[in-house]
Amino acid sequence: MYLSVDDETVSRVSTSISGLGLSRDSYEDPLFFPPKDDEVERQLGFFLSMVAIDHRTRTELTDFSSDIRGRRLSGADLLYYLGRRVYEYGGSFTPGWLAHLTPEEAKHLLCFEGNCVWDFYTRIFLLRDLGRKIKSLTELLLVDRVEELVSNLSVFRAYEDPVRKKTFLLAKFLDGRGLARFEGEKHVPVDNHLTRIAIRLGIVIPSGDLLEWIREGRELTREEDVTVRMAVREAWKEVSNRSGVDPFALDDFLWPFGRSTCTKDPHCNSCPFSEVCRSNSRGEYWEEPKHTLTWYY
Ligand code: SF4
Repeated sequence: MYLSVDDETVSRVSTSISGLGLSRDSYEDPLFFPPKDDEVERQLGFFLSMVAIDHRTRTELTDFSSDIRGRRLSGADLLYYLGRRVYEYGGSFTPGWLAHLTPEEAKHLLCFEGNCVWDFYTRIFLLRDLGRKIKSLTELLLVDRVEELVSNLSVFRAYEDPVRKKTFLLAKFLDGRGLARFEGEKHVPVDNHLTRIAIRLGIVIPSGDLLEWIREGRELTREEDVTVRMAVREAWKEVSNRSGVDPFALDDFLWPFGRSTCTKDPHCNSCPFSEVCRSNSRGEYWEEPKHTLTWYY
C-alpha cells in the first residue's frame, strides 16, 4: 500500500470542514454552462461531452489559458467557456454530431486563438467513441442510483477510470443542475488537486517508495496512480461521513480551494486548515505524485 489513511487527521479535518457551512453549487454561470430551461436532452449531451474531455489541460511543456472579457481563464474554465460557445452557436452535442466530429469542428472546442489543448486528437477520439456508443442520453444518464450511472458509463473510453473521477463529476453536475437525483454511494471526483490537498493535510500519509517518488518527481504508472487516488477517495469519503458534508458539496469547495489556496506555493496564512494541516506543521509542502499522460482526470 502506497498511502495509509490517518484516522486522527481525518477527524480533525472533518471537524474543520463541518464548521465551514459548505453548500452546493448549481452550475448556472452563463459563461460556462447552458441555460437551465433548455431542452433536457441538449443539456445532457453538453455535460456528458464536456466532462468526457475534462482532464488535464496543462503539462510541463504546454499551457491552456487566455484573457477573456477581463478574466483570466485557464484549464477547465477555458474548456467549458469554449464548450458553452460551441453550444450557443449550434454545436448540438448529439450522438450523431459527436460520432462524426472533425478536427476542424473540434478546433472550436479545444483551441483558442491558435493554442490547442495538448492532447487535441485524444479528446476527439474520446468524443467520437461517446457518439458511436450512445443509444439514448436519457436512458444512459437519468437513472436513480449512482452505481447504475457508473455501470452505464463504464463502456465509454472517456469514463473508464477505475476511480471514476469523470463519472462522479458528471453526477455532481447533473445533480446540482436538478437534472437527476442520485441515491447510493457517492464519492468526490479525485483529481490532482484533491490528491495534493489530501497528502498535504495528512488525511493520507505516503510511505516507502511513494514518498521517494514524490520527492524525486518521478512519474507514476497508471496502476500506481489508480492505487493512490483510490486511497485518497476513501479518505475523503471518511471526511464526508464524519463532517456530514455531502461528497459533491465537498468537491465544490475542494476543487477551487486547490486552485486558489492550496496551490504549488500554498497560501497557508489564509487557509481554514492551517491549525490542523500536517504540511503546515512540518513546513514541508509536497506536490501530488506525478502522473501526466492521462485522460482520467
Ligand atoms: S495549511 Fe497550507 S498546505 Fe495545508 S491545506 Fe492549507 S494551504 Fe494547503
